[in-house]
Amino acid sequence: MEMKVYNSLSRRVEPLEPLADNTIRLYTCGPTVYNFAHIGNFRAYTFEDILRRVVQFNGMKIRQVMNLTDVDDKTIRGANAAGVPLTDYTKTYKDAFFADLKKLNVQPAEVYPAATDHIPEMIALVEKLVEKGVAYKSDDGSVYFAVTKFPGYGKLAHIDFDHQRTGARCAADEYDKENVGDFALWKAWEESDGPVGWDSPWGRGRPGWHIECSAMSMKYLGETFDLHTGGIDNLFPHHENEIAQAEAATGKEFVKTWMHCAHLRVNGEKMSKSLGNFFTLRDLLEKGWSGREIRYVLINAHYRQGLNFAFSALEDARKSLERIDRCVETATEGEAPDWAQKHLDDFAEAVNDDLNIPKAFAALFGLVRDTNAHGGGPVLSVFRRMDEVLGVIFFGKAEKAEIPAEIQALLDRRAEARKAKDWAESDRLRDEIAAAGWLVKDSREGQSVVRK
Ligand code: AMP
Ligand code: ZN
Repeated sequence: MEMKVYNSLSRRVEPLEPLADNTIRLYTCGPTVYNFAHIGNFRAYTFEDILRRVVQFNGMKIRQVMNLTDVDDKTIRGANAAGVPLTDYTKTYKDAFFADLKKLNVQPAEVYPAATDHIPEMIALVEKLVEKGVAYKSDDGSVYFAVTKFPGYGKLAHIDFDHQRTGARCAADEYDKENVGDFALWKAWEESDGPVGWDSPWGRGRPGWHIECSAMSMKYLGETFDLHTGGIDNLFPHHENEIAQAEAATGKEFVKTWMHCAHLRVNGEKMSKSLGNFFTLRDLLEKGWSGREIRYVLINAHYRQGLNFAFSALEDARKSLERIDRCVETATEGEAPDWAQKHLDDFAEAVNDDLNIPKAFAALFGLVRDTNAHGGGPVLSVFRRMDEVLGVIFFGKAEKAEIPAEIQALLDRRAEARKAKDWAESDRLRDEIAAAGWLVKDSREGQSVVRK
């Protein structure tokens, strides 16, 4: 089955096929480690987790790189205000970030490069852009990218330049479409930077935010790679600028497919630090919600649709997960029957249709309903396969059920009794197995056991 996704660049749903080695090379914009990430950020990271899991579900391999922005205006301000070295300040939040990802059962990326470990690569890329004539040094020792020199500028965000291209400069990393201008690749040192700075051909300074991602993605994934993602707020200017920097330097296509998730909102507004309307993962864990319940809420909406955060959604998640747990406890090993296989087919179709996770959950609940109607059945393998993508099912009870040798011996004797149609002996053995704490189930595929 073909995996299809919506490409923000072409604005179409397209097949996702690896450029090389049956491997999808994926770059995901990571956190700025100046504070604890909020659950809006984790909507982006769980979306990317679902994406990498679906790639693997389809038999492809994944190589994911997620950067850690550990130098920018916010990290410098935080470190200097706290009076600690930048690296000490950011380490706290790097560690917290990885602990949070674990709580949410997010699979780790293959590489987590930190910006401060890649300053030489960034300087080299800026030098290349200056040599090519698309970047220039300003009077204060900063270096800017001249957007009018790169003809493809605006192709991702579909910007209409008729009323723009004034040649104005924008020193800030974040700005909107109305303020398109030359953006900073290298920022000259200022008083407020304190001890933070690196020497460069243009004097002491630090990299802009955008150059970080172009330099590190190409270092670890090559000049052209498959897939690049982030939250929708990253599309402009960040990703537009990444394309400009990379393509102006290499003359090659930078990324084939771009994907963006919609925002997590609170009362209709984007959840963000600046609006002060955010919850960190820690806030919710302290209130007694589990990582699994929070993950359930974050993934159970189509990634391109806005998701409004509400505590009632967490309550619903708790009930739904309890329902799944109860059903999984009755499931057994063995070859899955056709009625279960059908739900797996629906599930696969849903995830391959631009990651339709709500529809995938509908298939999962179809399996729960039918399993309950059958009073259980050998459907564990189907739940496991679905959970390769979802990552929310608890197999605790089923998985601990390593069958001891003496129980297996009783099961073998019972199978023989049944073959000989000795139903009395079969029932007696079933009771003996039950007395030892195991429940035997018979189905067309034979017998299976679960711990009582
Ligand atoms: P930041 O640390 O602000 O650069 O954000 C890290 C990631 O989280 C980026 O991919 C953002 O697009 C994403 N993000 C930030 N706020 C939200 C939100 N409210 N909903 C979804 N994604 C978000
Ligand atoms: Zn980025």
